Amino acid sequence: MGGRDATMVLLDENGIRCDGRKVDEPRRIMIKAGGLKNADGSAYIEFGDNKILVGVFGPRDVHPKHMSNTDTGILRVRYHMEPFSVGERKNPAPSRREIEISKVIKEALEPAVMLEKFPRTAVDVFIEVLQADGGTRCAALSAASVALADAGIPMRDMVAACAAGKVADTIVLDVNNEEDQAGQADMPIGYMPSLEKITLLQLDGVLTPEEYKKCVQVGVDGCKIVYDIQKKALQDKYFGNGAD
Ligand code: ADP
Repeated sequence: MGGRDATMVLLDENGIRCDGRKVDEPRRIMIKAGGLKNADGSAYIEFGDNKILVGVFGPRDVHPKHMSNTDTGILRVRYHMEPFSVGERKNPAPSRREIEISKVIKEALEPAVMLEKFPRTAVDVFIEVLQADGGTRCAALSAASVALADAGIPMRDMVAACAAGKVADTIVLDVNNEEDQAGQADMPIGYMPSLEKITLLQLDGVLTPEEYKKCVQVGVDGCKIVYDIQKKALQDKYFGNGAD
């Protein structure tokens, strides 16, 4: 944030961004439902150069038992970046950032998952970031929703996620790593499109009230694009040729 690389052209005179995209264009998104045979549900996402694998286990007994809730099930999320997922080796121990992102993703998924149907149990979501390139929390959240659906966990809606941001004084969809570093604002959004409810909204940077509203709208529109790809991933696995 905060214009660290002043020499980079983030938006040229034709409105084209540093990676060749238009302002309202997301990176390439590919989602595959399933793939891990030892998990109850799983999904793999490529979101630009982000590559993330998610495994879901449960509903299952809670250990340690005192963490269970007699009224409802609980959701546990672990977001982890592989040491090789970024240019410089990352320490494999959980960082403050990974602990924060695990909490944020858990809280973004909770409104969607019908945990009240499974008292005393836990649903565990393991997120492995294999390659990171800005926007991993949104990509991971979108893949986690597909993995939960793949596990057959009843849900009110899937959470689709995408960031919007401010780059070169312009509101853009899906901020990449360079834009995140050198841009003016980054706003990750998680959204349940059928219920029209936002479950995640963070903001790193400064926006005017008008820019804030525009950013939310652009981000929500991005979530709707992701939602269609999530649904297609499940359709491909359960009704298409790609069943496994
Ligand atoms: P998000 O991945 O959700 O955008 P951040 O804004 O915290 O979350 O991180 C932006 C990007 O910075 C990450 O996607 C990743 O590419 C990079 N990054 C994060 N942690 C590290 C790290 N320890 N070393 C190198 N790059 C990192």
